[in-house]
Amino acid sequence: MTVARKKVAVVCATFNNDRSAKPDRYWLQPQSGLQIASQIDRERYDVTLHHEMWHGLYGVDDVPAVDLVFLTGLQRDFDRQRQLAYLFKRKGAVTVAGGSICTLFPDFAAEFFDAVCAGGVDSVPDVMRDFAHGQLRRLYISAPTSISDYRVDYRLLGEAGIGGQLHLVEASRGCDFACSFCTVPAERARHTTFGVDRVLAMIDDAIDSSPWWSMKRRYPIVSFIDNNFANDGPYTRELCAALRRHPRLKGWGALVTQDILRDHDLIEQMAGAKCRILFTGIESLDPAFLKANNKRQNVKYADTLFEDVAFARRRGIVVVYGYLFDPRVTTTAEMTAQAEELARIEVLTYPSYFSFIAPLLGTRLFWDSAERGEMRPHLRLRDLDGTTIAYHGGRDSDEELSRFAETVFRHTNRLVSRRRLVLKSLRMSWQTRRGHLVDHAVLLNANLRVMHEMHIASRGVHRNYLGGADILDPSYSWFPPDISPEDRRRYFDPILITDGESRLQPWLERYRPAARRALRVRPDPTG
Ligand code: SF4
Repeated sequence: MTVARKKVAVVCATFNNDRSAKPDRYWLQPQSGLQIASQIDRERYDVTLHHEMWHGLYGVDDVPAVDLVFLTGLQRDFDRQRQLAYLFKRKGAVTVAGGSICTLFPDFAAEFFDAVCAGGVDSVPDVMRDFAHGQLRRLYISAPTSISDYRVDYRLLGEAGIGGQLHLVEASRGCDFACSFCTVPAERARHTTFGVDRVLAMIDDAIDSSPWWSMKRRYPIVSFIDNNFANDGPYTRELCAALRRHPRLKGWGALVTQDILRDHDLIEQMAGAKCRILFTGIESLDPAFLKANNKRQNVKYADTLFEDVAFARRRGIVVVYGYLFDPRVTTTAEMTAQAEELARIEVLTYPSYFSFIAPLLGTRLFWDSAERGEMRPHLRLRDLDGTTIAYHGGRDSDEELSRFAETVFRHTNRLVSRRRLVLKSLRMSWQTRRGHLVDHAVLLNANLRVMHEMHIASRGVHRNYLGGADILDPSYSWFPPDISPEDRRRYFDPILITDGESRLQPWLERYRPAARRALRVRPDPTG
């Protein structure tokens, strides 16, 4: 008699930017679920992968009955992880959670799940061992700099029906920079590499697991999803040499810091290694923004940015970037002017997306903002998604901020028309007059990417984009009618960051760094 394998679900919990529940089949899908599922023994367990972004959000009765579920997500998705924890527990599952909130605030996170993984995804083998023995611990910690030895099983994506035209691969994790708004330094995730041989094996595995007729098999392009691909110069050069020789790889792209564009030798080598697109941390051309957010690497090379971007373009690399707005230091009139000006800068593609700066929990920006009382009253963790305004006290009224956000995310074509972006792409293609048809397609796609949010925005969801006051996602009310008041509060009320007077909620006060606590109690010398 064969014994049925226990069922394990790995779920990437996701809230949509437009606060609807519909699927978003954009190619850049979360990767933590794949990394978790790849570390579970499939001979012994029946493993399934579910991306709420790709498949849509689970309804109240849709969650499968499994023995164990891993729930992962970004900071803004933590409430969704809690909601799913309730729904899965209701069907008898043991719940394990990971992600940024679990890493930075593990004992707080442990209030909602049977076990919490702090650090990276490398605790999974320990969790599975203890689960098999019925001895699950409350907390698992893996060093943010550790990358354990496991093989990524890309077949899981195909089995789950998750597509996309690009192979998503990691060559490293972490970053040694210290941008004030970023969770990577807050989590002390220093840059750590996978090693060239392992990266090449991942690329081959990803290609081999794609359908034989697919673009991913016929014309394989890799998007490296590292936080900072070129953080380690010698490793980057070694990897580029190997990518250049890779017989099947047709092209690749990666995320790099802006200062890398200044290293023309490296850009030359990347181009020779089939690099076609670099997503850079340009983030803003506004000196006030760069200074306020400690983007030292950008300030240092600001004068040569256009020259460096043009150099990369001449080598066949398209430089793309997201553009951040900080309503504390910039008015809506200035932000509108910047968005319009960006369309006129010939050498730069238009930003791939716009985003408002968000005080992600645990970052230096967050603790600074808390000290200054800058965050909006009743701000919720859910609001830290880049489309919602988290600050008050700027020079604009709430109505002006709300109207500007609606223009950016719902009516992007009022800032810049599609026709203008197509013409911009044609002009940029003409300037270089080189490259494969694919290069020009990459350029056109990069310029038009900004329209994505507008296209997927649900017309039926009416947002005001103001933290603490915006509409919540429908899943906040997706619970069964017989839920107890205690469970409803615990799993379905949004996690609050500030109270009605913009002070931190008590659960966060206990994490305030000791040095900052000392500052808070220091007597006022003028008092
Ligand atoms: S360079 Fe990028 S990954 Fe590194 S700290 Fe800055 S924002 Fe974060």
